[in-house]
Amino acid sequence: MLTATQVTTTIGRDSTFVNLITSNSFWSNTRIDVSQKRNVMKHRTGTLYTQKMAHIYGRVISSSCLLCHQPDSQIHMLSGCQNASLQNMVTERHNIASRLIIKILNKGDFGRIIIFTDIGSETRMAQQSLVLPTHVANRTFTPMASTKPFSR
Ligand SMILES: [Zn+2]
Repeated sequence: MLTATQVTTTIGRDSTFVNLITSNSFWSNTRIDVSQKRNVMKHRTGTLYTQKMAHIYGRVISSSCLLCHQPDSQIHMLSGCQNASLQNMVTERHNIASRLIIKILNKGDFGRIIIFTDIGSETRMAQQSLVLPTHVANRTFTPMASTKPFSR
């Protein structure tokens, strides 16, 4: 089984699978500002400034995450940190992206086969102008503080 990165890399080598307009639209998208594009490139090149990087550069004593005190890294920063405030941000980022995907799927042939989503509250859906078809059930999962967080 291939990881998502391996699939992307494999497909990326074969330009017959690449839609050049879609693949490059990120760079001309005016809703993504320069600092966001810079952070994406830093992530892709492994140069996001984490505590681990700060420690490597000798700027801090510890390479541990300042929020949870676990070993810091890019993946930890983006989705691994178990600090509650960061987990809420990760969940909301997931839900925003999922709502965008559901909005697009609803416009196509696959929209009618969606029966269940977990993409946040109706208020949040309304903020993104998303109305689910009546046959779609949406459940907002609220992890309890005393349980181990679920993984995606
Ligand atoms: Zn952390």
